[in-house]
Amino acid sequence: MKNYIDGEWVDSSSGEFLEKVNPSTGKVLEKFPSATKEDVSRAIDAAESAFERWNSIGSSKRSRILLKAEELIRIDRKELEKILVLENGKVPVQAQEEVDGVLDQIRYYAGFERKITGDVVEGDSEKRLILQYKVPYGVVAALTPWNFPAAMVARKIAPALLTGNTVVLKPSSDTPMSAEWIVRKFIEAGVPKGAINFVTGKGSTIGDHLVSHRKVSLVTMTGSTGTGQRIMEIASANMAKLVLELGGKAPFIVWEDADISNALKSLVWAKFWNGGQSCIAAERLYVHEKIYDSFVRKFTSATRKIRVGDPMTSDLGPLINGKALETTSRFVREASDSGMKTLTGGKQPELEGDFRSGYFFLPTILEGAAQDSPIFQEEIFGPVLGIQKVSDLEETLKKANDSRYGLASYLFTESNSVVFEAAEKISFGELYVNMPGPESSQGYHTGFRLTGQGGEGSRYGIEEYVKLKNIYVNYSREELHIQSVREDLF
Ligand code: NAP
Repeated sequence: MKNYIDGEWVDSSSGEFLEKVNPSTGKVLEKFPSATKEDVSRAIDAAESAFERWNSIGSSKRSRILLKAEELIRIDRKELEKILVLENGKVPVQAQEEVDGVLDQIRYYAGFERKITGDVVEGDSEKRLILQYKVPYGVVAALTPWNFPAAMVARKIAPALLTGNTVVLKPSSDTPMSAEWIVRKFIEAGVPKGAINFVTGKGSTIGDHLVSHRKVSLVTMTGSTGTGQRIMEIASANMAKLVLELGGKAPFIVWEDADISNALKSLVWAKFWNGGQSCIAAERLYVHEKIYDSFVRKFTSATRKIRVGDPMTSDLGPLINGKALETTSRFVREASDSGMKTLTGGKQPELEGDFRSGYFFLPTILEGAAQDSPIFQEEIFGPVLGIQKVSDLEETLKKANDSRYGLASYLFTESNSVVFEAAEKISFGELYVNMPGPESSQGYHTGFRLTGQGGEGSRYGIEEYVKLKNIYVNYSREELHIQSVREDLF
């Protein structure tokens, strides 16, 4: 693998590399450059130099380049799907879904050509106007996570480029390969030298330098809340605009009158999609007491049938790395020590051959989790779910809102009054009613509280990439009389 700086594929200036491990086997897959701060500075300088030209060509030409990139990705999509299975441990059907998402987002954002419009506002007196232009920020630093390593890259670089910004992309060190593959397609599609730059390396080594650099005007990062808070602190050096898409702890509510079959299927998706490593994953289950026993029995039975192992032949692949496996195991161990009952799972599966050294964990259901327990308060980010029995709607919505995170939430009910009461009271950026996720390109994916600030998708998401410039114009030919300036001075 290489970095892409100022139109050239290069190694790190230190000559050093990092290793990418296959989470299914624990074996090294690839080596990628460990960029230095000097490499990052060169990438930012290149992005700054390319900005004026890239911005001036107009959004129609940029849209055509985006659509060409979409076409090139579509033609070779099987390669990208294979990389996602290898570097992330996704099962093939979910790798396909992710690539569908990549293509959809690029098409969606390309559709904004000539649609970013400003305003003309009347002035305070005759023959005066205020022109409000929407202009790009300049150099955008884009930092992406490992859980949807291709979709998150597309969701950042497509709107940034369409609006005329130039980009320095730094992917997660757990998934650099899919990001490099996508960048190559954008370059092949015609993104000119400097408009996109790609650097790899540990966030802990080069992250601060990238987000606090004085030439970076916007930082868009998807990742954990801890990293988001660090970025907020560091980016203050530069007052960079921030778009931060951070952690989640989605409540999944099944009410007494829910369509049980739809709720069950959706819950299996919401909990185990991507191995529970999704910001919108169901992380807390609240089931109405009238249906609790039968719903939990059916959900446990379905969960036991989920096949875990080699992603090519299973329903559920591995966690991303050894640290994630350790964290997930610790959550379950401590829950069990505190008296919660493990209905299924709770340990690593027994696998054969190379997969014995992979980071697999069985789908796990824990009963009896207290509202203030780590299982109900902290982001687990693995295939583990705690359950609570509930009865009163107002109390249940209060419990759902009782979280430092505020991204996705789910509700299953056939009652309109329950839907609208929840819509009014739920305090999350997204509520999915009688359906699973994920979010759509035309929705505004945004989180409340410690899930961050700003959002992605929809016209609100693309407008994160432009700022307003106000031009005050006086087109009268009459002499100016300025009240607080004495005429006898002239
Ligand atoms: P992470 O560890 O916070 O990393 C995210 C990105 O930030 C990576 O590229 C990382 O690089 C980089 N980074 C780390 N330290 C940095 C620093 N000091 N300065 C600048 N950048 C730095 O998150 P993750 O583990 O990859 O992703 C999982 C998290 O993402 C979960 O909490 C999940 O909920 C959240 N997520 C949220 C959304 C959403 O839409 N809200 C979507 C997907 C995921 P390295 O990899 O090199 O450390």
